[in-house]
Amino acid sequence: MTDLGAMGWNFDNSYARLPAALFARAEPARVANPRPVLLNHALARDLGLSLRAVSPEVAAGVFAGQVLPPGAEPIAQAYAGHQYGGFTVLGDGRAILLGEQLAPAGARFDVQLKGPGPTAYSRRGDGRAALGPMLREYVISEAMHALGVPTTRSLAVVTTGEAVYRDRPLRGAVLTRIAASHIRVGTFQFLAARRDLPNLRALADYTVARHYPHLAGDANPYLALFRAVSERQAALVAKWLCVGFVHGVLNTDNVSVCGETIDYGPCAFIDGYDPDAVFSSIDDGGRYAYANQPGITQWNLARFAEALLPLIDSDGTRAVELATEELNRFPNVFEREWTAGMRAKLGLRTARDGDAELTREFLNSLHANGADFTNSFRALTEGTLPATLRAWSEKWEARVLAEGETPTAARERSRAANPVLIPRNHRVEEALAAAEREDLSATERLLAALAKPFEERPEFADLREPPPPGTCYRTFCGT
Ligand code: AMP
Ligand code: MG
Repeated sequence: MTDLGAMGWNFDNSYARLPAALFARAEPARVANPRPVLLNHALARDLGLSLRAVSPEVAAGVFAGQVLPPGAEPIAQAYAGHQYGGFTVLGDGRAILLGEQLAPAGARFDVQLKGPGPTAYSRRGDGRAALGPMLREYVISEAMHALGVPTTRSLAVVTTGEAVYRDRPLRGAVLTRIAASHIRVGTFQFLAARRDLPNLRALADYTVARHYPHLAGDANPYLALFRAVSERQAALVAKWLCVGFVHGVLNTDNVSVCGETIDYGPCAFIDGYDPDAVFSSIDDGGRYAYANQPGITQWNLARFAEALLPLIDSDGTRAVELATEELNRFPNVFEREWTAGMRAKLGLRTARDGDAELTREFLNSLHANGADFTNSFRALTEGTLPATLRAWSEKWEARVLAEGETPTAARERSRAANPVLIPRNHRVEEALAAAEREDLSATERLLAALAKPFEERPEFADLREPPPPGTCYRTFCGT
């Protein structure tokens, strides 16, 4: 038995004390040869962990699920979800929650292995993951964090020394995911579909206590929970649009009630601005396209409201009235969050009527010219907008002067809202292809660059370039 105490594990297992319907005990599969690929020492420090307290080989054993941290009670979580509009009962088919790390500052974080082998919810899946998609989640989730977008984090990627079989054999891997929690809209739907009111109430009370403790004393804490989750989702999706992120598979099981971006599958960042941008090979109808994300989030919240109805009021009609009133606030809350985010990108200090229109004119012009989203906003910051935007620039300057600012000051203010670097798809793909050949240098370079996305560093200038014209990027769900 290896002594893992020195790593700083401080586990609790509050989810495993919830009603048994919500989870199944699980055990990570034995694997041939765990090897470390990426270890996130900075994140570990924030969690009160020291990954250097043990050898990389021992750390790999932990993150492959071969040796459990002291106090771990591994479980797979039950949930359901609307996938592309159709309701399905799911659950962690390829993920195991080890426990909850209590960090030094007092916060509680789920520590979950993704790809550790089958669970009670695996159906016909193998419960495994391939290296490429796990590295992709690591790179993109850490980039999102550095961009200031709420997200699950990535603590480690290890290979298992075994092949996983997709359309061809791939290197098997396990990602260690850190989340404020893994409670999804679909977790509520799972109990609501079973008409399991006592357990639904237990889950709602747990969620309030864990994520929204200030609501516990509210006259109607369940309606207040719905409002709070809606507001966090509105803020989250506004942030996605401000960095050009397309989640790709916004099913209700991929919507976290604490408002973090979760379940990185066929996601991608846009290069050229296109509101209809879709990357997922199976999203034919564009259900989860860039500009559809606010609307689909409201649709997902409607499913959340339905699940909560019996808790909101014992009179069904009254419950629907109350929930509908909250749900109808979503478009305004989203518009407020989006306008605030875009105002920051335009370097504006105060809020004025017409700001949303000024932003939309800018975006329409990018769309018409096929201009790069990230680089165009950064060009505003750097004072290098092209001549095609001359008329718009004059309007922008007039708007800036109207609040008593200079364009130089506004550009300076916009610096912190307009990233230089995003994880561009062609660069991520290039890095993952090299990693599959056991060359991690491009992945490590990408991580170093994306850790400080607002800094202009000449050594990473190549990562600012959009892909060659005509490149069409597609992502695949079969991860
Ligand atoms: P995701 O695409 O990660 O949101 O997964 C959707 C559902 O499919 C979840 O219930 C997963 O647990 C399940 N799933 C995905 N891949 C696998 C796999 N290789 N083995 C078992 N279940 C899986
Ligand atoms: Mg999912």
